[in-house]
Amino acid sequence: MSSVSDPYRSLAERPEDRLPAMDEASTPRAVVELAALREELERALSHASRTAEQMALHTIHVLVPEDRVRRGPIVENGEMHERHASFIGRLCSHAAAIVRTNDLLAIGGPRTLFLLQRGITHSHGVQRLAEVVRHRLRSHLVRHLFGEPRITVGAVVAEPGIAAEALVRESIRVADEAPSGTIHVAGSPIEDADGVIVREIQSALRNDGFFLEFQPQVDLRTGRLRAAEALVRMDSRQRGVINPTEFIAVAEDHGLMCQIGSWVLHEAVRQWDESLSRHDLLLAINVSGVQLENRHFAAEVLGELRSSKLPAERLELEITEGCSWEHSAWAANNLRTLRGEGVRIAFDDFGEGFSTLGRLGRSNCDRIKIPRALVHGIGSSRRSETIVEALLRLASDLGIATTAEGVETKTQHDWLVDSLCELGQGLFFGPPGPMRALA
Ligand code: C2E
Ligand code: MG
Ligand code: MG
Repeated sequence: MSSVSDPYRSLAERPEDRLPAMDEASTPRAVVELAALREELERALSHASRTAEQMALHTIHVLVPEDRVRRGPIVENGEMHERHASFIGRLCSHAAAIVRTNDLLAIGGPRTLFLLQRGITHSHGVQRLAEVVRHRLRSHLVRHLFGEPRITVGAVVAEPGIAAEALVRESIRVADEAPSGTIHVAGSPIEDADGVIVREIQSALRNDGFFLEFQPQVDLRTGRLRAAEALVRMDSRQRGVINPTEFIAVAEDHGLMCQIGSWVLHEAVRQWDESLSRHDLLLAINVSGVQLENRHFAAEVLGELRSSKLPAERLELEITEGCSWEHSAWAANNLRTLRGEGVRIAFDDFGEGFSTLGRLGRSNCDRIKIPRALVHGIGSSRRSETIVEALLRLASDLGIATTAEGVETKTQHDWLVDSLCELGQGLFFGPPGPMRALA
């Protein structure tokens, strides 16, 4: 690369030449010392193993014609590596102006920069950043210093579990082997955030990676336990326990919800059989619109009931907002069949999203669940209280039962008792936990 005949000689022969520390006052935040970059890389990789964040390390080699270096305006003294340090330091600061705050730049050697790119979400993101940085460096060099520089970028997308040192080595290797003046991206393919969760769901389905917690629903008048709501969690090997808000929508979008839903139904009924049957408690299970629209859903539920001790009247299906069964003949059919058999239907988070008052008139439901966001305002927001009062009155006039969700304080509890809400659920009564905590 640095042979005498090559007009694009590197600025120094050995990248490991010692470099003077950069002037802190003039150093942009995104620029750090090499040792700090390594430390940050270790931290970032360890964080990524828990969060599935994706990142890439770019090695950027800058080569300029040797004769132009000598005449370049930044040459201020005769000492070779001082010159190089100053040169690459200026380039680093220049590039720092366009990298995002999470990304980091460091001087890797007299002719080399490292760029740590974090939070990658698109497959073209790595190539794009390399192009943008190269363009900026080139135009700066051409304008001010050296005519036609050659900038070679080797970027490696970190594989899950790779060590910081290995990533640095690999990135340097890719840059060293890339044809001079080109950009080369290597490493694991970038997955979008959904892709990561889809893989986790598939793995959890194969490896028994889901589990249920149950949250008590309590009679507000008597304080007695009346129902338990099953809430699904996913145990991801890499990231630990993941809550349903993070994976249900992805599962719905990628055709995986019915499989999860079937597992939840079967497992919740099994645990009820084992622990709750003698307490005569209601079992509440969340059902996604995707499940409801499946033509076999009612038959599946009734099949589970037949092979368990759970009577249909003790099962309550919580239909979440966002489910538009009015437009699906199968969903309407499933609801009719299930109610006909005595299964209870609750509208979850009633009043949020698509669940409108019109829905109450068009379909028969047994319960509305008043969402946490409204209950939260009780005691502090007169608007929230007015809306909750109206919902409770409406439900009572229509003969529909009510559950207040997300009850956290005694003030909320007492207010709901006075307003004749039937059941309460929330941290005030107990968090979701294993079935044995209830039974
Ligand atoms: P949801 O059915 O409205 O469940 C209530 C959520 O509120 C639960 O969150 C619960 O842990 C949380 N919560 C309960 N009490 C309190 C409280 O006092 N304060 C606060 N801040 N939060 C409280 P989680 O378990 O994360 O579930 C979120 C949503 O995921 C559920 O909302 C439900 O829509 C969905 N989901 C959960 N399990 C399933 C399932 O098996 N199937 C389907 N389709 N959806 C599910
Ligand atoms: Mg629910
Ligand atoms: Mg809810």
